Amino acid sequence: MEHQTKLNELQRIASALESDAESRAAGLQTAAVHAENFLKALPDRPVYVAPGDRNEALNAFALSEEPGELDDAMEILDKYVEGVGHNLGSGRFFAYIPSGGLYEAALADYLAAVSNRYAGVGYAAPGATRMEESLLRWLSDVVGYPKTSEGDLTSGGSMAALSAIVAAREAFQIRSRDVEKAVVYLTSQTHHTFSKALHITGLGECVMRYVSVDDGHRMRADALSEQIESDLQDGLKPWFVAASAGTTDLGAVDPLNDIADVAESFKLWFHVDAAYGGAFALCDEGKKRLSGLERSDSLILDPHKGFFLPCGTGVVLVRDGKKLFDAYHARGSYMQDMAHDTERSPCDLSPELTRPFRALRFWLPFKKLGTRPFVAALEEKLLLADYFYQQIVRIPGVEVGPPPDLSIVTFRYVPQNGAVDEFNRRLVDAIRDDGRVFLTSTTMSGKFVIRMAVLNYRSHLADIDMALQVINEKISEINGS
Ligand SMILES: *Cc1c(COP(=O)(O)O)cnc(C)c1O
Repeated sequence: MEHQTKLNELQRIASALESDAESRAAGLQTAAVHAENFLKALPDRPVYVAPGDRNEALNAFALSEEPGELDDAMEILDKYVEGVGHNLGSGRFFAYIPSGGLYEAALADYLAAVSNRYAGVGYAAPGATRMEESLLRWLSDVVGYPKTSEGDLTSGGSMAALSAIVAAREAFQIRSRDVEKAVVYLTSQTHHTFSKALHITGLGECVMRYVSVDDGHRMRADALSEQIESDLQDGLKPWFVAASAGTTDLGAVDPLNDIADVAESFKLWFHVDAAYGGAFALCDEGKKRLSGLERSDSLILDPHKGFFLPCGTGVVLVRDGKKLFDAYHARGSYMQDMAHDTERSPCDLSPELTRPFRALRFWLPFKKLGTRPFVAALEEKLLLADYFYQQIVRIPGVEVGPPPDLSIVTFRYVPQNGAVDEFNRRLVDAIRDDGRVFLTSTTMSGKFVIRMAVLNYRSHLADIDMALQVINEKISEINGS
């Protein structure tokens, strides 16, 4: 009896968690209006907004026992989330590696969360996991991998690299005692998340060989080969080559075919970081520039970059799919009911068990729009980068880096007198503070340079012209000040 009273009371309070049709319709309407306002304002919003007061924001996010209004939540979202920081969705975002944010992917996230399929296990969500399998098959075709390849949709490139490294470690049976002799080949341009993934996987003490690069900052296959020879002579165990198909600094594509030849002849694991560049395999011109990608043992891609999805989707592909399975297959006794299940389960191919239904945000945009606009957008990005490269050198005093392998251009302004690095630091700050476009800087061969990375699906010719105009204006302003 006592229980009953208590339970009734708890049920009454907890039932607030169940929405009714009316409140769902109202909620959806509120969210849709909010999203629409955001998207309408996006073209005129600054691409970068300073963060504002931290404590004020933390207080605004504070929770209470009492229910709140969705309208208030939308105001908080607008002011303290959407109103500060980078506007990744803007076509004038040319910093780092741009992401996209296709609306169809947002709808997919909504639907995936509503039906909440358990997408880690085939037995639990055969539809969700088959959709993922189908996407991975399609991607394998796009990059030129065989049908025996396997893969996993991850949260991003960092996790994808981690997965590839573990598959390679298991395939080569690298154990703790082998680590100090195992050699990994990379370059100064390899993304830092690769070394981080090695560190996480217990391979941080491998011998790291930074292979020298050519004028375009691409790995030199001849230098790689010589280094491997010399390491073998020293009794080391070369096992892993990490090439890049589109470095983050410069978009440089390593000579993948030449590296594949070397990796094959020495029987090493050949991995390609195509997190940024891999998506270009979708268009003919990009595919040409990525030739040799199909010869790798593993590769990573970031659909949240070149396929314009919102943040949160990476991919790892492993040519011999069994190696990914062998690295990750595991079971607990509480999973015995799925012992005879023949469905493919992502948990057998990934460090994760419970995971979001990531396939839907990838599938729905392609299903609704078809592949054609993606192909066109990617080819457009390559051309826009070429265009920018040709135009920026016409500004007197501007010095450019190598012609773009993909869609990133570096440049700097060399003033008549005064410190070059200091001028460019001021220039990149002035461009950011202006807010019309957003570019970032990096250091190439010891020089401070500014990067222009073109990858948003909303970036078109007029946006590139806007960038050129802002750069021009800011150079004049700094020179005049
Ligand atoms: C973005 C990027 C990564 C890291 O991927 P995340 O999705 O940010 O984890 C790795 N390599 C390259 C070349 C990248 O551009």
